[in-house]
Amino acid sequence: MSRSVVAAMTAYTLELREAEIKLNQNESGEDIPRAWKERVLERMLDRPWNRYPDFESMGLRTALARAYGYEAENILVGNGSNELLAATIGAFVGPGTPVVLPKPTFALYEKLVTVAGGTVMPMPIDPSTGLLPLEAMLRAATPDAVIMFCSPNNPTGGVLPPDGLSALLATGATVLFDRAYGDFHEDAMPPLHDRLVTFSTFSKAWGLAGLRVGWLASTAATCREIRKVKLPYSLNIISEAVAETALEDRPRRDANVARIIAERARLFEAMQAIDGVTPCPSRANFIFFRVREPRRVFDELCARGVLIREYADALRVSIGTREENDRFLEALRSCV
Ligand code: PMP
Repeated sequence: MSRSVVAAMTAYTLELREAEIKLNQNESGEDIPRAWKERVLERMLDRPWNRYPDFESMGLRTALARAYGYEAENILVGNGSNELLAATIGAFVGPGTPVVLPKPTFALYEKLVTVAGGTVMPMPIDPSTGLLPLEAMLRAATPDAVIMFCSPNNPTGGVLPPDGLSALLATGATVLFDRAYGDFHEDAMPPLHDRLVTFSTFSKAWGLAGLRVGWLASTAATCREIRKVKLPYSLNIISEAVAETALEDRPRRDANVARIIAERARLFEAMQAIDGVTPCPSRANFIFFRVREPRRVFDELCARGVLIREYADALRVSIGTREENDRFLEALRSCV
């Protein structure tokens, strides 16, 4: 028999539908060039595969520290930021810990907090504002609480208002700031703080979701605490090498981000012009939008070969390539 909190949960699932145009998971629309992949794999041929990866992942941590202006001791890397979110919640959330989070947000947060026995304190978002509910989060925060959010927020696309982070830290709470979509908002990495952990991923702007690489940044003392919980060797040598190589090619990532931001503006404007479609302001690589019958529209888009993400009262579409976005717009126009 599983623990009662687990028995009461539903699994993290995804609608497993096949579609020609896949705009449901906020992935990068562009794959890595084949020659680039071959270069990394070539390097891997000389590495021993019978040996564990470097225990400290020093190569990648040093490369990240150099790229973002930190020291390696301020960084932990893991098998996607999901793994690091789990380790950090394991380190900071126990039975009864209040965890303040905006709602709706990335469903994994609530699951991890529930498994840890924490008490979720959801703060409703008004997606049309393009902002997270900072005032409500500040009112709910106490020094024993954990505040957890992503900015830009998944799925609504809104961000923390300017100076929001320092106000949240001033409450005395521990702040877990997920920057999974931060690249598309072009905000700077915040200064380190013992009660602040930031999470980043190679899955979105860097276009490496299949390799599963995430990283977190905090003070050395806080990183040491999280490391006690994190599984050893969770990042394999190939993913680690791919992420290191990606960091050497920052212009490729910058071009991808610029292309996605331009497409986001184009898509938003085109969606606004469709009668019956209300897109919400987004700083991420997706757009949250309302239509009168989301379930029907979701199904009809699927029937036209376009898979997006469905929520109780809204839909979310990832920004794809220009061609994919055009296919989505054409399908949307014909079914709302
Ligand atoms: N944080 C947020 C807000 C996300 O939306 C996602 C991916 N859906 C993740 C983290 C997970 O990223 P990763 O692929 O690095 O595990």
